[in-house]
Amino acid sequence: MFTKKKLFLIAVLVIAGSLATFFLVPAGISNWNEQPTKTVTGKHAAAGEKEEIPVSVEKPLPVAVPSSPETTVEKEPVDRPVEAETGLPSGNSGNVNWDDFPLDKLFFLQSPIPGAGITSRDSQLPGAPRHYRNGTHQGLDFYSGYCGVPVKFGDPVFAAGPGVVYRIDHHFEELDPEEREELLSSYCREKGETPEEVLDLLRGRQVWLLHPHGIMTRYAHLDQVSDELQVGDPVKKGDKIGTVGNSGTNDGARGNHANAHLHFEIWVGESFLGEGLTPGEIREIWHQVLLQEH
Ligand SMILES: [Zn+2]
Repeated sequence: MFTKKKLFLIAVLVIAGSLATFFLVPAGISNWNEQPTKTVTGKHAAAGEKEEIPVSVEKPLPVAVPSSPETTVEKEPVDRPVEAETGLPSGNSGNVNWDDFPLDKLFFLQSPIPGAGITSRDSQLPGAPRHYRNGTHQGLDFYSGYCGVPVKFGDPVFAAGPGVVYRIDHHFEELDPEEREELLSSYCREKGETPEEVLDLLRGRQVWLLHPHGIMTRYAHLDQVSDELQVGDPVKKGDKIGTVGNSGTNDGARGNHANAHLHFEIWVGESFLGEGLTPGEIREIWHQVLLQEH
């Protein structure tokens, strides 16, 4: 049963996340968060994320309450060290117009898993719908069987390019299955969207790297992060930053190692790479960035 205490903690997290976003994210990268849900054409058969659950919305959201020392789910320190300006063109909405975007600005990046290609499944692409949480997938998934190389629980994950550690979750506490389900039902299904604070929990243990031009890469569902790395530390392309896991997923909450994969995001300003494009276009643009010889 989902206790009042846990509901209270979730409410605290939502408030803490909102405050952190408002106060602590530096200028120029002030909204790396969830974008409005978009519809991307093409087939998006569910794969990898198996939490598809019928929607049932009747009860009210928990009331948010002030913070408390009882909070047990640790949020990482948000000691953001780097001011960033993308210096890159964007559309009227603040989102990137990929037709005008100089893709060579991203050619310093490489795949965070050596030898891995772009998934063959549309559902593992950025922009794929995530009905179970009324949201949109913002990253590229690297799963065994779909990206050309084996991807196993505990495999190393490497920095896609040179940059600075912007966030690294040394202290991460997995949700239990009931907590996770309550988040999905009380927030995502009733609100018809995935609040950023909930999405952040669903991404599990994470590392975020800030790169030149304000480009951000985010590595999610990690099992471990590198002990020696702290916020503000420089990293080189290819430095090990963590290991593949399934934190934040349904399997992670259940404590098994099933469906381990790397979820990898590339952000340009307020847009994830390829946002708003078709699956075919997204696959092409990600291929150019990560895999073509530059
Ligand atoms: Zn993913």
